[in-house]
Amino acid sequence: MAMRMSSLFLRTLREDPADAEVPSHRLLVRAGYVRRVSPGIYTWLPLGLKVLRRVEEIVRQEMDAMGAQELLFPALLPREPFETTGRWTEYGPNIFRLQDRKGADYLLGPTHEELFTLAVKDMYSSYKDLPVTLYQIQTKYRDEARPRAGVLRGREFVMKDSYSFAVDDAGLDKAYDQHRETYIRIFDRLGFHYVIVAAMAGAMGGSKSEEFLATAENGEDTYVHCPQCGYAANVEAVRVPAPPALDFTTTPAARAEDTPDTPTIAKLVDVLNARFPRDDRAWAAGDTLKNVIVKVTHPDASTEVVAIGLPGDRDVDEKRLEAQLEPSTFEVFDDFPSVPQLVKGYIGPGVLGAEKDAKVRYLVDPRVVDGTAWVTGADVQGQHVLSLVMGRDFTVDGTIEAAEVRVGDACPNCGHALEAARGIEMGHIFQLGRKYAEALGLKVLDENGKLVTVTMGSYGVGVSRAVACVAEGNHDERGLIWPRQISPADVHVVATGKDEEVYLAAEDITRGLEAAGLVVLVDDRRKVSPGVKFKDSELIGVPTIVVVGRGLAEGVVEIKDRRSGEGRSVPVESAVAEILAEVRGTSA
Ligand code: ATP
Ligand code: MG
Repeated sequence: MAMRMSSLFLRTLREDPADAEVPSHRLLVRAGYVRRVSPGIYTWLPLGLKVLRRVEEIVRQEMDAMGAQELLFPALLPREPFETTGRWTEYGPNIFRLQDRKGADYLLGPTHEELFTLAVKDMYSSYKDLPVTLYQIQTKYRDEARPRAGVLRGREFVMKDSYSFAVDDAGLDKAYDQHRETYIRIFDRLGFHYVIVAAMAGAMGGSKSEEFLATAENGEDTYVHCPQCGYAANVEAVRVPAPPALDFTTTPAARAEDTPDTPTIAKLVDVLNARFPRDDRAWAAGDTLKNVIVKVTHPDASTEVVAIGLPGDRDVDEKRLEAQLEPSTFEVFDDFPSVPQLVKGYIGPGVLGAEKDAKVRYLVDPRVVDGTAWVTGADVQGQHVLSLVMGRDFTVDGTIEAAEVRVGDACPNCGHALEAARGIEMGHIFQLGRKYAEALGLKVLDENGKLVTVTMGSYGVGVSRAVACVAEGNHDERGLIWPRQISPADVHVVATGKDEEVYLAAEDITRGLEAAGLVVLVDDRRKVSPGVKFKDSELIGVPTIVVVGRGLAEGVVEIKDRRSGEGRSVPVESAVAEILAEVRGTSA
């Protein structure tokens, strides 16, 4: 087929849109692929829709090849199944809720675990029906707190979601591994660089979980990786290995000391070194135990004050904490008058713990193991305790992975220093287990005629996000550079000049390419200058550009490679064969 720019529904922009922070957003809007309707809500224009469809097709082919079956659920869903699994409340403000004319509650589906589970329950009843994997490529809705970067994080977006159903854990493992292989094939075909990292299972519970991140400097996800053993994990999922417990028989008894004006760790360390110097070395921030207080709000709207104890040289990483608390949320605690036991700046384990009067649950970093000695708040204005030993002088309610992960931290696998990088989450595979099947009563009869709960996996690919992601990884200062497999056209034929012959020759070449099955974008605009046409062709980013212009007088046209910028002249008679060879990667 051919798209003629004289009539194509397209307007390119010379200026960057004011709200665009990242290159893919800027370029997709400027090159006329998408247009904003409202924050996080975009229209796919003809060129954009072509790319989106091609991404979908790659995903579909690979899912079908894996043996998954495609179906399509509605986006408008009743409240009940989400009420049953608790997600109607857990999602909080992150979903779109609405009512019908009778006042019944509905939501726009953010993901479809409930619906798939119920569909299998509705139709299957025996182990003989399993395993089965179902998928859809469908529009999802999430009222994201920070829609961003155009279609990269939308409030309406296209996702491929699939769900596997098996009678036992081995079946789930198999489906998970198959998805992993399939995702590798999908992302290899899409044309961006990615890494597979260990991930948190998130709001949906479950055990094994990995994310496919496109590597990108301005990605929202930070992951760490080990150059030694290949370990890679989303920062949220990093498990800090607990060091072995220490012997504290020679540790002196805890003692409270006056440390006036030391509400910060830095000031405290100065005072310690000035007034209570150590024999072996200077005091450092890591010798102190800092207690950060947060207010946690649970899905049922109840709240709780929680203290997080961590070595004073580390801050709380909000995303890690958020991931640990999910589906509950947190905010900084500032209502000190309501809990008089908490002396701001001097809070210590003395008053912390769910059983104590203040009723502040106390969770500590895994590095705070039995036998470790700390300088920490004495719960008295202007005082700290020295040599407060975990397991001897205080206890805690549990541990929490909330401290920041730093470059150079030991790899949990092999101990080598970790490195960090950023990425964009493109796909997520995880083992849901029996949570949804249990909540919604999905059971089948096993070989012995006994009812067993089905175990599930859930797997997503950001289809619309992939368009932005490929654009993010494939552009230069002049515009987009599509990988062939998802370009909106195979060839962009640019006819320049006033000569009618040029347009006739361009039309001939276009027909020849069309006949060979190629999709051609033709710039056949008569009143537009060559300069503007060249700029547009670079902005739009079709990988092969064919210029039919001045050279025609000498019987040649130019074939240009958008990525390298290199061009070569070929005789007009053999142009079609040369272009086909170029596009197909063969020689003419
Ligand atoms: P994120 O952490 O980026 O918010 P998520 O973990 O909430 O994503 P999943 O529920 O795992 O996302 O959804 C599966 C896939 O759908 C993600 O891997 C991502 O590629 C895509 N996706 C999720 N949210 C959006 C969004 N708001 N806009 C576009 N794509 C999205
Ligand atoms: Mg995810």
